[in-house]
Amino acid sequence: MPRGVSPRQPARTGRQDRAKQVRVPGVAAGTAKNSKPSGKARVAKAPSAPPSTAKIKGYNPVAPERVAEILKRLNELYPEVTCALTHASAWELLVATILSAQSTDVNVNRVTPVIFRKYPTVEAFAALTPEQLEPDVRSTGFFRNKSKSVVGAAKKLVAEFGGQVPDDIDKLLTLPGVARKTANVVLGTWFKKAVGVVVDTHVHRISRRLELTTQDDPQKIEQDLMKIIPRDRWILFSHQIIWHGRKLCIARKPKCAECSLENICHAGDKTWSTVDMHKNAKA
Ligand code: SF4
Repeated sequence: MPRGVSPRQPARTGRQDRAKQVRVPGVAAGTAKNSKPSGKARVAKAPSAPPSTAKIKGYNPVAPERVAEILKRLNELYPEVTCALTHASAWELLVATILSAQSTDVNVNRVTPVIFRKYPTVEAFAALTPEQLEPDVRSTGFFRNKSKSVVGAAKKLVAEFGGQVPDDIDKLLTLPGVARKTANVVLGTWFKKAVGVVVDTHVHRISRRLELTTQDDPQKIEQDLMKIIPRDRWILFSHQIIWHGRKLCIARKPKCAECSLENICHAGDKTWSTVDMHKNAKA
């Protein structure tokens, strides 16, 4: 970048850079390849009287063309991503996912090899009391509840499912500590079954920023995503968004100037923008 030229900061209104407006509803001109910042080229003229973003003619954030473009760019960014939780069986993935709530995958991946060496089978976990497991999972946070869930799930699996993790969402949801997110992770990642879309904190935040949903409740967000994303992309989409949330679209200061979705993203909390920002499209 030439000296003295720095990425333009968005105005409070988010309306400063209406450089290339959409042709396809919600999709600005440009591609992932040509949308990188390049000094002055990104500094667009401010319109004299910018319209309200709510009145952009023909803008539909969930138009099939826009959703397809988002999926295409995610494919380019994260072609082969999968779950970052270390596991060697459905049971290990289930435990890791329960432990990952309010924790990082790195943290969970430090803990799980230790506990799976110590308690190598579902039966070994089922023989524990939650208090016995607590010290081993303490570093993942909320360890009392997590211990209760893991031991409770093991007991139920042994008592009712022959010690096997079922590949059925209704059965999974009967296990202590297992809600739709955990069930979808196990079904999608281990069993390769697209029964729903994983909505974790990253999918929650980024789906709202990209205006794929206006909901705040994870179950409602999942329903919205299931309506607009083709079923054969449900599993990969979640993995890609989770990676995007870790690498670029981070919670506090998303790295918008490095993001190839930038010119089709109107998030109200972008840190840099060449398009209108929609104040309600926030994490
Ligand atoms: S442009 Fe910014 S807010 Fe939008 S998806 Fe990329 S990183 Fe996230």
